[in-house]
Amino acid sequence: MKPSTQLIHSIPVDELTGAISVPIYQTSTFVQESPGINKGFEFSRANNPTRKVLEDLICGLEEGYAGFAFASGMAAIDAVLKLLKTGDEIMAVEDTYGGIFQIFHHMFERFGVKVNFVDTSNIDKVLEKITPKTRIIWLESPTNPTLKISDIKSISKIARQHNILLVVDNTFSTPLLQKPIPMGADIVIHSASKYLAGHTDVLAGLVVVNNKALADQLKYNQNISGSILSPFEAWLTIRGIETLSLRLEKQCANAMAVATWLAEHPAVDKVFYPGLATHKHHHIARKQQKGYGGMVSFTLKDDLLKNAIRIVNATKLFRLAESFGGVKSMLSHPVTMTHRNIPEDFRRKAGVQDSCIRLSVGIEDAEDLINDLKQALDKLNQPIGKQITVLQ
Ligand SMILES: *Cc1c(COP(=O)(O)O)cnc(C)c1O
Repeated sequence: MKPSTQLIHSIPVDELTGAISVPIYQTSTFVQESPGINKGFEFSRANNPTRKVLEDLICGLEEGYAGFAFASGMAAIDAVLKLLKTGDEIMAVEDTYGGIFQIFHHMFERFGVKVNFVDTSNIDKVLEKITPKTRIIWLESPTNPTLKISDIKSISKIARQHNILLVVDNTFSTPLLQKPIPMGADIVIHSASKYLAGHTDVLAGLVVVNNKALADQLKYNQNISGSILSPFEAWLTIRGIETLSLRLEKQCANAMAVATWLAEHPAVDKVFYPGLATHKHHHIARKQQKGYGGMVSFTLKDDLLKNAIRIVNATKLFRLAESFGGVKSMLSHPVTMTHRNIPEDFRRKAGVQDSCIRLSVGIEDAEDLINDLKQALDKLNQPIGKQITVLQ
């Protein structure tokens, strides 16, 4: 079966009633026939039938051994980091998601877990920075917001040779565009709040692991820390995933049209989109991705924060908001929004310039989206009417 068919038909019909939509099992506990004799469910923190459908669904799509659903992407990340112990080290991609930077640096470092940020798009750097204590290599590919690509297959070989776990945050691509586990990753993470649920109406996190030992540990962490996804949120996420292939197809096509148009605009300096032949890592993206996704970032020739703010205030269809991956187009200014808590030198090193604008391209008509960006970019040539204040 092709992925779009597999996706729809791996969501089971309810065996008990024949309900074609997955029932929401809104219950905390399950009646037992005799102590320990039950129908596979005891208490919803440990296991819930609605959540289980989602966990099996993502596991199948990622071709892993077992899946786990959490209350948010950050809760999923937290559960994976709890595989570590004091003294262990993580090597992480340099321009990682802001929340990951925070949890590594400000939380897990307090427990004696050290983090080394490395430009993982450069294999030599990965090899050079491995230490005897490195337990996890943490990748995002493409990264946020500059869409750098790391070669997952090559890094997985290095990880295996050194007995290091390879974790890939696959939020940007989803399993329809990229499957890290068949490429050699041990663990895949998702913020399902983005493309998987897809309608900006739910927070959810997912983890898929590739073997039983990891599954047992993750199951334990999920149950004992307890940051599980509720039955209703699990149902919303399943319903979102049902239309994932349609949404992504449109988002990829729209993003390519927008990126191509931006690259020609006289006020635009760099366009970051892995689908453009001019992208630094296009050759790797072409090898490991089935599509290039719906995220596009760009910078301005006049690299000023105030210019970026003018543009993000002027778009009408692209709504100014954090997060991404929904059906509605959105945009953000990382420096003053998602990346404002990241130290300036670190942010600059990761290539996030003052004028960087990140687009999450939705499923609207591409021409309307381009016209919206056009009228916003035109504002740069008009005199400033009112003073713009920027919160620091
Ligand atoms: C949003 C995001 C997260 C965190 O997920 P939440 O659902 O917001 O907790 C983690 N990784 C990436 C790449 C993200 O974009």
